[in-house]
Formats: sequence, structure tokens, C-alpha cells
Amino acid sequence: MSNQNIGVVGAGTMGQGIAQVAVASGFNVHLYDVAEEPLGRAKANINKGLGKLVTKEKISEADKDAALARLATTTTLDALSSCAVIIEAAPEQPELKEKLLRDLSQLSSTAILASNTSSLSLTRLAAVCERPERVVGMHFFNPVPVLKLVEVIRAEQTADATVAEIEKLAKALGKTAVPVGDAPGFAVNRLLVPMINEAAFIVQEGTATPEAVDDAMKLGAAHPMGPLALADLIGLDVCLAIMDVLQEGFGDPKYRPCPLLKRMVAAGYLGRKSGRGFYHYD
Ligand code: NAD
Repeated sequence: MSNQNIGVVGAGTMGQGIAQVAVASGFNVHLYDVAEEPLGRAKANINKGLGKLVTKEKISEADKDAALARLATTTTLDALSSCAVIIEAAPEQPELKEKLLRDLSQLSSTAILASNTSSLSLTRLAAVCERPERVVGMHFFNPVPVLKLVEVIRAEQTADATVAEIEKLAKALGKTAVPVGDAPGFAVNRLLVPMINEAAFIVQEGTATPEAVDDAMKLGAAHPMGPLALADLIGLDVCLAIMDVLQEGFGDPKYRPCPLLKRMVAAGYLGRKSGRGFYHYD
């Protein structure tokens, strides 16, 4: 990529991680959000994240300073007009993303628009944009600085050259790109979340406790973390939303969300972020 400018839209959990990895990889990042407050928080977290790399002697203090100097924050979308690639990591709300991507597609005639959506159809998002052939999915995993995978999702309209550019970018960010089609849940969530949902059924039916389910999968299937501890980390509301997307998208009853999961979400037991999920947290 001769143009080393990358736009990141949305400075939340994912946007911060993507921006951190990009500046650490030598790119200039324009990080956009709707207000100064999330941008200030993002800058502080990126500083902290790079600081951890210094402590682990993965980068020097000078590398960290140089990376931070490559980070610019903005509340003006126009500031992203010079970017070769704009990665959208705004909230998972269809109308919000459609409007944002449409506006972004009018900013530049050459930029690639990559959405980090975890559940929306890329084909639908591309359809509202100018130059839909330059729209693609770039699905990072949380925490972005740690997890190596990027699912590259091809919309019906996506051009081969767009996919090739994004695969190159993923590599430059130290990630491994896995190509997937535009189907509900893509590959990882379609496999992972039904497994979590089934684990919730096991608990609901009294077949095993959460601890027993998690021990079984750690020891018997070599998973680094059990499915219910993972569900608490992801957020039970997020897991439920993904099951809803799978059920609606495929129209197949095998994706029915577990009633226990629904009840827990209704009760506000969302996992780590609410202090209680399948486990209790301080
Ligand atoms: P988040 O809530 O942590 O952050 C969203 C950010 O977007 C916030 O800083 C918010 O101020 C900002 N925002 C709100 N309205 C905006 C607008 N109109 N324009 C630009 N920014 C706006 O969310 P997140 O967890 O970082 O998720 C972002 C995206 O990444 C979602 O599409 C989500 O599905 C996807 N994703 C999340 C995860 C995860 O584990 N959190 C993993 C993979 C993909």
C-alpha cells in the first residue's frame, strides 16, 4: 500500500485495538468518533497497550513514541478523506452503519471501506454505498492486539482487487486473513456461538454445572477456555444477538437461543461486564 493512511471509525473496544495495531505496524491512523470523550479514552488505552509491549520488551520506548505520533484523533469525518482504507468499527446498528458507510463512500473515490461488523450482511451494507465494489468485511477479534485472525468477508459486489488489498493490509498488521462468504455469523461465530448456546442448554437441563462444562471442554477438547467462561467474556447479550442473527438468517430451528440464556440477559446477567453471568465477578 503506497498510501499509508488508515481511517478507523469508532474509538470503542475494537476501534482502539485496530488503531493500536495499525500505528504499531507503521501506518498513520486517523481515528474518528462522534465526541472527544471516547477519543480521549481510546488514546489513553492505546498508550497503555503500547506501554505493555515496552514492558514485555517487544518494542522500545522510542518505537512507542513513534507509534503514538502516527495517531491522530478527530470528530470530523472529512479528516479521513486522504485514507487508502477506512475501517468502520461503529456500534452494531444497521441504520447507523448504513448511514456512516454511505457518507464515507462519498468522501473519497478511491478508499476501500472495510466494516468490522460481526453480524450484518456486507452485501446489504455495500448496496447503500457508492462504489460497492470497494466495500468489504474485515472482521477482527477481541482483543485485537492479541488475536491473529481477520475474517475477510466478500460481499456480492466486492471486487477481487479489494479483497487482495485487504488481505495485504491484514498481513501488514501481523494478522492472518481467512476468506469467508457473506453468510450469517461468517465462520467463527457460526461455529463458536451455537457451541456456547448448547453449553447453556446443558446447564439448563441440569446435565452439568458451568464449571463441569468448562472443565470438560478444556480437558477433553483442549480449549484454552471453557465455553461458558468465554460467553461471560464475550457478553451474554452479544451471544444472544448472534443466535438471533443465525436463526433469522438461516431460518433453521437448530439455531434457537437457549431459554436460560434469554432469561439471564433479561435479568441483566451479561457476564463479566455486569459482574455476573455463568460465574460471579468482583
Ligand atoms: P463499542 O461500543 O465499544 O464502540 C463503538 C464506538 O463507536 C464508541 O466509541 C462510540 O462512541 C462510537 N460511535 C457511536 N456512534 C458513532 C457514529 N455514528 N460514528 C462513529 N462512531 C460512533 O463497540 P465495539 O465492541 O468496539 O464494536 C464495534 C464493532 O465491532 C461492532 O460492529 C461490533 O459488532 C464489532 N465487533 C465487536 C467485537 C467485540 O468483541 N467487541 C468483536 C468483533 C467485532
